[in-house]
Amino acid sequence: METTGLQFIAGKRRSGTSGEHYEVTNPATGEVLATEILAGPEDVDEAVAAARAAFCEWSRATPAERSEAMLRWADRLDARAEEFARVESRNAGKPIRLTEGFDVPGTIDNVRFFAGAARNLEGRGSAEYSADHTSAIRREPIGVIGSIAPWNYPLQMGAWKILPAIAAGNTIVLKPSELTPLTSVMFAEAAEEAGIPDGVINIVTGTGPIAGQALVTHPDVAMVSFTGSTAVGRQVASQAAGLVKRVHLELGGKAPFVVFDDADVEAAARGAVAGALINAGQDCTAATRAYVQRPLYGAFVERVAELLDGVRLGPVDDPATDMGSLISFKQRDKVAAMVDAAREAGATVVRGGKIPDGPLGQAAYYEPTLITDAAQDSAIVQQEVFGPVLVVLPFDTDDDAIRLANDTPYGLAASAWTSNVFRAGRATREMQAGCVWINDHIPIISEMPHGGYKASGFGKDMSAYAFDEYTNIKHVMTEITGDQHKSWHDVIFTSS
Ligand code: NDP
Repeated sequence: METTGLQFIAGKRRSGTSGEHYEVTNPATGEVLATEILAGPEDVDEAVAAARAAFCEWSRATPAERSEAMLRWADRLDARAEEFARVESRNAGKPIRLTEGFDVPGTIDNVRFFAGAARNLEGRGSAEYSADHTSAIRREPIGVIGSIAPWNYPLQMGAWKILPAIAAGNTIVLKPSELTPLTSVMFAEAAEEAGIPDGVINIVTGTGPIAGQALVTHPDVAMVSFTGSTAVGRQVASQAAGLVKRVHLELGGKAPFVVFDDADVEAAARGAVAGALINAGQDCTAATRAYVQRPLYGAFVERVAELLDGVRLGPVDDPATDMGSLISFKQRDKVAAMVDAAREAGATVVRGGKIPDGPLGQAAYYEPTLITDAAQDSAIVQQEVFGPVLVVLPFDTDDDAIRLANDTPYGLAASAWTSNVFRAGRATREMQAGCVWINDHIPIISEMPHGGYKASGFGKDMSAYAFDEYTNIKHVMTEITGDQHKSWHDVIFTSS
C-alpha cells in the first residue's frame, strides 16, 4: 500500500503543504496505515486551479470519449478490486466481507453506470413552442465542483460525488474525511491511469475547518456538493448561499422501520438486525427506530435479541467477522454516551450497551445494542447515533405508525413490513423520506436516486437524477422565419 502523499492534484500524488503531520490509522487495531501532511488552503488553491485548467478539454470531450475513459477506469478498478477491498476494510474498520461484497463492487458498478449515462443526458424535445422559433435544451457542465465526503463509506461516498459530476463534463476537487482518504486517492489515481486527463479529478486530504472551508468558499468553485452531518451541512449551505453557489446536501438520517401486524416476523427481525448493524450502524439509512404493531412486539424483540447474540465481532480481515469497529474512539464514546443517557432516562438495554470485554475493547468496537422502553421524544429516538444501536417501540394503529415514523427532523430513508398491499401503498405515500423500502431495508442500486427530505438535505446522488445537480440547463431559441419584422415587434413598432 502506498503510504505517503495523500493529495492527488493535477494527476500526481504528493504531500500537503500545511506543515501539520498526522497519521491515518486502522480503527480496529490502532495500526498506522499512512503518515501525511494535511492539505492547507494553498493545496486547495492548486487543486482548484488544476480542475479549472482541465475543464476546457474535459467539458468539450464528446460523451462517447468520456464514457470510454470511464469504462477503462472500471476495468482497472476490477483488476485491483481485492486491493481496494483490503485497504477500505483496514482504513474504516469494516469487515472484509462488507468491502468485498458491497463497497467495492457497488462503486465499480456505479462507474459503469455513469459511463453509460454520460451518453444519455436527457432534456425536453426540441420543438416550435412559439410558431416562429425552434426551442432546444442544452445541458451543460457547471464548472469546478467542490465536494466534501464523510468517513463511513469513504470509497462509495467519494464515487457518488465524482461520477455524475465528471460524466456530465465537470471537473472536481474532492475532500475526503482525513480519517479515511486512502481509497479516494487510489480511485483518482486509477482514473488517471485509465486516461482521464490530469486535473479532472483532484483529491485534497485535510480537515473540514481548513481544507473544507477553503473549498466551499473558493471563488472558482462553482458548486458545492456535501455529504455529512446536518450540523455541518447547515454551515456549508449558508456559506454557499452567501456566495450564490449551487449546493447539494446529503445529510443525516434516522430511518424508521415499521412492522405491521400482518408482517413475516422472522423476515422483519432479520431485516432489522442486518439493517441496523451494517457498517456497525454508521450508515445514514440504517434501521434505527423499529416501530412494531403490538401483537408482534414481544416476538419481534425476542427474535432480534436472539439474532444479535449470534453476531460475531472480530478482526476485520477475518471473513467470519460480521461486524467491525467504529471509525474512532471518539465515535465509539459518542455512541456509548447516548446509550448510557437512554438507560438513565429509563430505557431498557436488552442486549449490548457496552464496550466489549477483552482485546476488542482496546480498539473502537461497541457491542450490538437493542433498546426498548425509550420515549418517542428521547434523544436515542430523535437523534442520529451512528452506531450499532436499534431502538424498538410498540404502536397500536396504522395512523400511529405513520405519525411516529415521520416524527423526527430527518427524512432520508424508511421501510414498512407488511403483506397487505394497501398498507404498503399508504406507507409508501405517507412516509416522508427520499427512499421507502417495502419488506426490506438498505439495498441501493446505481439506477435509482439516493437523497433526503427535510433535514436530511436535498439533491440526489446516483442515477440519472444526479445530473440535475451537476448540469446547467440552457434554453436555446432560434428564430426560424428570417423576417426582419418579427411578429412580437408589434409591441414596439406600430407599423411594419
Ligand atoms: P461531518 O459533517 O462531521 O463531516 C463530513 C465532512 O465534512 C468531513 O469531510 C469533514 O471534515 C467535513 N467538514 C467538517 N467541518 C467542515 C466545515 N466547517 N466546512 C467544510 N467541511 C467540513 O460528518 P461525519 O464525517 O461525522 O460523517 C457522518 C455524518 O454523515 C452522519 O451525520 C451521516 O448521517 C452523514 N452521512 C450522510 C449520508 C447521506 O447520503 N445522506 C451518507 C453518509 C454519511 P473532517 O474530516 O475534518 O471531519
